[in-house]
Amino acid sequence: MKQVDIAIIGAGVVGLAVASELSGKFEDKSIVLVERHNKFGQETSSRNSEVIHGGIYYPTGSLKAKLCVDGNKRLYRFCEEWDIPHNRLGKLIIARTEEEIPVLESILIKGLDNKVFDLELLNADQARKLEPHIKAVAAVLSPSTGIIDSHSLMSRLEWLARQQGTMFAYNHEVTMVEYGSNGYQVTYRGPDGRKDKILCKWLINCAGLGADKIPSWLGMDIDQAAYRIYPCKGEYFGVSNAKSSLVSRLVYPPPLKELKGLGIHATKTLDGRLRFGPNAFYVDNLDYSVDEGHALEFYNSIKTYLPFVDFADLHPDMAGIRPKIQGPGDPVQDFAVKHEVDCGFEGLINLIGIESPGLTSSLSLASMVGDLVDR
Ligand SMILES: Cc1cc2nc3c(=O)[nH]c(=O)nc-3n(C[C@H](O)[C@H](O)[C@H](O)COP(=O)(O)OP(=O)(O)OC[C@H]3O[C@@H](n4cnc5c(N)ncnc54)[C@H](O)[C@@H]3O)c2cc1C
Repeated sequence: MKQVDIAIIGAGVVGLAVASELSGKFEDKSIVLVERHNKFGQETSSRNSEVIHGGIYYPTGSLKAKLCVDGNKRLYRFCEEWDIPHNRLGKLIIARTEEEIPVLESILIKGLDNKVFDLELLNADQARKLEPHIKAVAAVLSPSTGIIDSHSLMSRLEWLARQQGTMFAYNHEVTMVEYGSNGYQVTYRGPDGRKDKILCKWLINCAGLGADKIPSWLGMDIDQAAYRIYPCKGEYFGVSNAKSSLVSRLVYPPPLKELKGLGIHATKTLDGRLRFGPNAFYVDNLDYSVDEGHALEFYNSIKTYLPFVDFADLHPDMAGIRPKIQGPGDPVQDFAVKHEVDCGFEGLINLIGIESPGLTSSLSLASMVGDLVDR
């Protein structure tokens, strides 16, 4: 049986960042990254808003807050170092009515609690000066929110990991994991359909929407550990005409209750397109089609703050699926990042529930895994 020191499951942005971090840190350890698709970033990491978040909304002290604030800085530095296309264009969180102004004030306080020190409260005139075409009675400006080309980011992380000796096993699907005295036996199905096994001392679970399967195969109670994944879909609609240029920043209404999503917001792509979304609804299967019937829901939300958008401007764009560990009606859940040594699984590091802001946090998550492997 083949043997490595570290096996990473999943070549999304998190698995790639972990591979880059660990291969840079531990030159003497052999590392393999196992991915079921034929290339990186075929699931959630290429189906998102590509926003570098500021870290404003998340519960203070949570991993989401800490890793997002830290990850934001790391990501901008990384982009500059490696020429990754990005734009620190800023974001407005708006109050559409006087009643929503207290929500903005609480966002401002939350931001300060989370050590996001660059937020500014704007009145209607100040907001209109920045974005003349939006309807807002007040806004919070987050200058350090931006957008990134996530494909270029992943491509660079893969390149770095390869340069540093990581082996990549694309088209390999992990179908079982067992734990014994020699470490973890990982069974996978290769491109020819045949099954084989690999033995590793460290197993890093970055499997996104499939991440709850690994602890479950090992016999962990995923409900007790709160690791069960409840896929939560988010669709986008685009505006393809000249109206895209009427907004130059990201514009968000106040976030949804229970942080199920951040509300149907307006994001810009690096090529200047205006996109709306994502909505948020739980699904049973991983279907990425966009339901055109949802256009009205989008329109009704958008017209409350972008009055220049007509229903006819909207066209289905794309969809992504959040790997939530927060089931319907549950309270907000944090990222689960844990070395499972106290459950009897020395060397198993689970990263589960890595929904937004997982892209922003990817380099910080990787650094955290680096520290856990160090011990
Ligand atoms: C609609 C939406 C919008 C978002 N917007 C933002 C945003 O603007 N900013 C932000 O910071 N974050 C955002 N996110 C969150 C961000 O996209 C994710 O946190 C991040 O992409 C997660 O990366 P990952 O590597 O953990 O998962 P993934 O990209 O899903 O990668 C997991 C990989 O594991 C592989 N895998 C799974 N099971 C197996 C197996 N058994 N064997 C082999 N391989 C396996 C999969 O094929 C996949 O490639 C958004 C998410 C969604 C859904």
